[in-house]
Amino acid sequence: MMRPYNFSAGPAAMPAEVLQEAAGEMLDWHGSGMSVMEMSHRGKEFMSIRDLAEADLRELLAIPDHFKVLFMQGGGLAENAIVPLNLSQGSTVDFVVTGSWSQKSAIEAQRYCRVHEAASNVRDKHTALPAPGQWQLSADAQYLHICSNETINGIEFHELPDLKALGSDAPLVVDFSSHVASRPVDWTRVGLAFGGAQKNLGPAGLTLVVVREDLLGRSMSTCPSAFDYATVAKHQSMYNTPPTYAIYMAGLTFQWIKRQGGVAEMERRNVAKAELLYGFIDGSDFYVNRVRRDCRSRMNVPFFLRDETRNDAFLAGAKARGLLQLKGHKSVGGMRASIYNAMPMEGVQALVDHMRDFERTQA
Ligand SMILES: *Cc1c(COP(=O)(O)O)cnc(C)c1O
Repeated sequence: MMRPYNFSAGPAAMPAEVLQEAAGEMLDWHGSGMSVMEMSHRGKEFMSIRDLAEADLRELLAIPDHFKVLFMQGGGLAENAIVPLNLSQGSTVDFVVTGSWSQKSAIEAQRYCRVHEAASNVRDKHTALPAPGQWQLSADAQYLHICSNETINGIEFHELPDLKALGSDAPLVVDFSSHVASRPVDWTRVGLAFGGAQKNLGPAGLTLVVVREDLLGRSMSTCPSAFDYATVAKHQSMYNTPPTYAIYMAGLTFQWIKRQGGVAEMERRNVAKAELLYGFIDGSDFYVNRVRRDCRSRMNVPFFLRDETRNDAFLAGAKARGLLQLKGHKSVGGMRASIYNAMPMEGVQALVDHMRDFERTQA
């Protein structure tokens, strides 16, 4: 069966192999007589699924031993509250606002602590990253928050900031929801990273948190127990029932990434896919991307037709060719192609072919 190419920003396309594997195991996982959905989260079958998922993720992302891996719920949005509840101590935190997601995170954090905006690209309409050397860091910040890939605006930090080099001891908190596992992570620069699974790891329902051990145990007394990182870590993410099926699906995705050659190979492919698409857009007078070249996202590519009255025709033509969910986010407009790990080069080539053909028919 030839499936269409799905460019959804999230929940997003998953590798067909993973979906097939899950379908094959739906009624009976490995001779257990149960679907993974029907298993006790504390039984030996599910524990083996969880343990393998964590081990594979640690291997793929080279997560050092002094970081805890937590499988939580609530999504990226819940983490916007859970992070300050765990790390802010009601004191000051720094935010670098680079797009819709970091903006949203900063507003939510204000409910729990004093938020200092260390830098912002609002004046550039979120089309360029403020240089770390220019950030106004607070002396007493409990942490500094960035969104390392702005899913809506299509901006990505290609390198994580080195806060130590900027003279700060504050831990870096990274929302990596929409590019986790698309490239390696420099953990020496990270205090905590979180992400919803539904962009690049699996289905919605699972939230991944990777946190440095020394940051545990600082939560405010108002932090819900189920969202207290120290409690979750102490119970190996089993303090309450974790999102078992989503963990299983993410685990199958980790195995798939390993079979492809790991995260380095994912990055190589993602660079090639992004170069093909941006290269075509930049070479065209019909389409445009407005993000500065050195910070364009490899995962989320917003673009516009210069003549926006043709948007509906473009989308209808795309759908007829099996290219789905290309409409841009409502706050930005235009188009957006999300080209996560599961999007093959052939899908990006099919999109470029449509863009070229559509331009010709409009001449
Ligand atoms: C999708 C996304 C979120 C929101 O995740 P939810 O699971 O909907 O709460 C947060 N941050 C980023 C960068 C995202 O792309």
